[in-house]
Amino acid sequence: MSHSEILADAALTDDDLTGGDLRVFTPVDGSEIARLKTHTVADAGAMIDRAHRAFLEWRKVPAPRRGEFVRLLGEELRRQKDALGALVSLECGKILQEGLGEVQEMIDICDFAVGLSRQLYGLTIASERPGHAMRESWHPMGACGVITAFNFPVAPWSWNAALALVCGDPVIWKPSEKSPLTALAVQRVCERVQDAFGADAPEGLTQVLVGDRDLGEAMTANPKVAIVSATGSVPMGRAVAASMSPRLGRTILELGGNNAMIVAPSADLEMALRAIVFSAVGTAGQRCTSLRRVMVHEDVYDALVPRLMNAYDGLPIGDPLADGTLVGPLIDMEAMTAMERALEQARVEGGVVHGGGRILSDSHPDAAYVRPAIVEMPDQSEIVHHETFAPILYVMKYRDLDDAIAVQNAVPQGLSSCIFSTDMRETEHFLSAVGSDCGIANVNIGPSGAEIGGAFGGEKDTGGGRESGSDAWKGYMRRQTNTINYSRELPLAQGIKFDI
Ligand code: NAD
Repeated sequence: MSHSEILADAALTDDDLTGGDLRVFTPVDGSEIARLKTHTVADAGAMIDRAHRAFLEWRKVPAPRRGEFVRLLGEELRRQKDALGALVSLECGKILQEGLGEVQEMIDICDFAVGLSRQLYGLTIASERPGHAMRESWHPMGACGVITAFNFPVAPWSWNAALALVCGDPVIWKPSEKSPLTALAVQRVCERVQDAFGADAPEGLTQVLVGDRDLGEAMTANPKVAIVSATGSVPMGRAVAASMSPRLGRTILELGGNNAMIVAPSADLEMALRAIVFSAVGTAGQRCTSLRRVMVHEDVYDALVPRLMNAYDGLPIGDPLADGTLVGPLIDMEAMTAMERALEQARVEGGVVHGGGRILSDSHPDAAYVRPAIVEMPDQSEIVHHETFAPILYVMKYRDLDDAIAVQNAVPQGLSSCIFSTDMRETEHFLSAVGSDCGIANVNIGPSGAEIGGAFGGEKDTGGGRESGSDAWKGYMRRQTNTINYSRELPLAQGIKFDI
């Protein structure tokens, strides 16, 4: 399919794609595919006002009815899966299978949120006073701003939006300026859903802000945006937190990762090998959960690492929309330069680099195709502590599991981690309080490719936010504690006497 057919299939018109000043390039061949009209900070203010007005209405709609909106959204996404998946692939360069997978995640979280819309439970709590009852109620919170990164143009929006909408919160979305097209297409889908739903879905329930970070800043600064859920780099998360904290606004931060795997002596090496390759080179190493560090026990190092290099040698790298490709391009030349710099520094720090380097430059002079790199490191030196958003895998040897866990936890980020071992003592130790310090810790599964049913997010520099499944919905509601006195007395808590 040609690029223009993909854009047309996703119902984006010439009017959507031309006439503006935000130039959008596809990493597939570096060509310009759109010039989008952008919003101003004043537009953002007007949208926030609209979202706030929508909140005042949407909070009155019963939650299961709000769930019906998300059910319709999921249905419409099912119908549009192929078109949206191809557009994801075109605009951020991940292979088509992963583009389709990203849309499937949107569908899955919609299904989850529909059920959730009948399960926004609070507790009943024993009161210490006779004739009293206590309970917790959960109420809609307010407009939710969602800021997303280039590498997952749509799924993180849906992890937030599906929950926020059933929780009673309108959503304003500021997609990455590098990959804003699927957001526009999804907003079209939302508008169709809104028409089908009926008049009780207020105007401004879902909106998209197209443009740079100043639009994100307009949301973080505005108290009418009760929650800002931001996905992106650690510096971005720090800026969002700094802007939100003076007004004590609620943040959900999903920031960078530096994810590791420990391969223990008892590991099934065949499984470990497959997991390493998928997690390290999938999305060309541009996932927040990409595998960046492997600690291999010295007893199995020679059995695993040469095979890994062999597998890397055979990787099909190229057009992400073509059948059979497993590794697409990096987002842009800047990302390629960052990869080259990191490899250079790794060499200086004693690393032995296998692979890396630009390829396909003759056929794709404006695109950033690279060979994924494996770097054997003598230890976890400075460069290994950084998240370079590219397919670089640092491999290190270990002897003692506690040392390997200490190395794993010694980086600033705390998103995802895993151990490959068939020794239950080791795996449980890894999952215990003295094990991995990450928000995600897996056994015999790589660090990337989470399911929507679990809460997603990580600790330390990753930001501490949780999205998607489990009880992450509580981040989109306000908790109210209610004490109800149905007696004829007015006893005070803690037995305090205060007679007048
Ligand atoms: P980025 O930080 O450059 O941009 C992300 C978004 O933040 C963009 O929409 C950008 O316009 C906006 N933004 C930037 N500065 C802002 C500010 N001061 N206020 C408000 N908004 C601002 O990130 P990127 O390069 O698009 O994405 C890659 C990064 O995202 C990596 O670090 C990756 O690990 C991380 N990421 C994290 C997760 C997660 O769930 N933890 C998921 C995907 C990506």
